[in-house]
Amino acid sequence: MNSAGEADEGADACLVPGCGQPAARHLALSEARLAFEDLPEGGRRAPLCRVHYRVWKKATKERRTLDRLGR
Ligand SMILES: [Zn+2]
Repeated sequence: MNSAGEADEGADACLVPGCGQPAARHLALSEARLAFEDLPEGGRRAPLCRVHYRVWKKATKERRTLDRLGR
């Protein structure tokens, strides 16, 4: 089952449905769900590609700002 180096870090595919790009970042699944509600179950960590990581960052930043304004 251990093929030559294919399970190195960075070999994960982005968890966002329909994407499949190589992961650039790994987030906690619960964190990733703040921006992508339809992520599949399957672990505690959610690999995200560069594009979706940026989308996530933007989404969570807005959420944090709204949070702060709401208080
Ligand atoms: Zn992606």
